[in-house]
Amino acid sequence: MFESDGGLRGRGRTHHSPGPGPRARIAARPQASILHADLDSFYASVEQRDQPHLRGKPVLVGGGVVLAASYEAKARGVRTPMNIGRALQLCPEAIVVPPRTSEYAQASKEVFAIFFDTTPVVEGISIDEAFLDVAGLRRVAGEPRTIARELRARVRREVGLPISVGIAGTKFLAKVASAASKPDGLLLVEHGGELEFLHPLPVQRLWGVGPVTAEALRVHGIERIGQLAELGEQGLRPIVGRAAARHLHALAWARDPRRVETGRRRRSIGAQRALGRRARTPDEIEAYLHGLTDRLGRRLRNADRVCRTVVLRLRFDDFTRATRSHTLPDSTDHTETILRTALGLLTAAMPLIHERGLTLIGLALTNLEDADPRQLTLPFEHGPGPELDTTLDEVRTRFGSSAVTRAALLGRGEGLSVPLLPD
Ligand SMILES: [Mg+2]
Repeated sequence: MFESDGGLRGRGRTHHSPGPGPRARIAARPQASILHADLDSFYASVEQRDQPHLRGKPVLVGGGVVLAASYEAKARGVRTPMNIGRALQLCPEAIVVPPRTSEYAQASKEVFAIFFDTTPVVEGISIDEAFLDVAGLRRVAGEPRTIARELRARVRREVGLPISVGIAGTKFLAKVASAASKPDGLLLVEHGGELEFLHPLPVQRLWGVGPVTAEALRVHGIERIGQLAELGEQGLRPIVGRAAARHLHALAWARDPRRVETGRRRRSIGAQRALGRRARTPDEIEAYLHGLTDRLGRRLRNADRVCRTVVLRLRFDDFTRATRSHTLPDSTDHTETILRTALGLLTAAMPLIHERGLTLIGLALTNLEDADPRQLTLPFEHGPGPELDTTLDEVRTRFGSSAVTRAALLGRGEGLSVPLLPD
């Protein structure tokens, strides 16, 4: 019915998604193709990533209140939010570290870039979790389970953080599944196995059941979702009220028609490549940048968009990062123009790369606008014009994205085998 790549069961938290976004894309469906991806103990994991002496230890992030606790601290009964004093009573040897908000924002941005590289249908719920709809990607990227495994591996490899993923046919079940798979797990609820998975769980796992409702239900002997489902909507009304009865009854029978809501059109596109810890020559690094530029240029043109700002992202051996950007005088979708800009940024960053060692290179194109057919792109004077891009795009469309590759990339593969998706 379902599988778990992870071990321990975690406690589910209840969140409500914010109101529906402006564009509903894909409805809930019988196949399990909605992913709920949720970073594990997010702030605490970032601290353990950046400060090796914290790994394997109980870590509390916060000041007066615990904002995040590592799994080592959670195993001792620490919860969030909880008073630090109370948490230290439960776990006296815990190490308390102050929050570093900008580090968390940066890590979140990097994880969301991987989400958007996985599928265009991403609904962010908070800084560390999102729904992803991967229906329709079977042909290009494989089954949802395969996609989820790759997503988890990429977040671990490229951002250095553990992330749990639940897969199901509805958002609610996907979220319950990710919570049940934690920490660092993957759990898929097959179509047909929903109730078998859901009914043994405590009622607190249902969205909308907080401590007050849980207590009201407990007084009536209802502690498991299966018991609540048996009671029926009519039976629930006197306990929780008419509206909540309808809502909880539907969830208990795994009915959740909400769609994965995507936001407005994207303001940027990006791609990155993890390089591992081996030292790379400047030529190799340039070659990877060529590859990234080719991919992004093609995505830009396929989406009929143009960009004005080119952003180079670098990550070093010690997980520190640097970002370099350049804004062009005019918007462009011309690969050669983007490449020259990116190479200029890379050259300027070479001393830093030499000093710290490069483990990841990323490129983002921002300040995106819809391409105006009347607007001329302005390539640099020397070098191939837009007709080369058009020709290469056509060849790649007909024969696959590896049909044409730059000489510098031969023998290196395409980098991460990420499908080219509509932007
Ligand atoms: Mg989380």
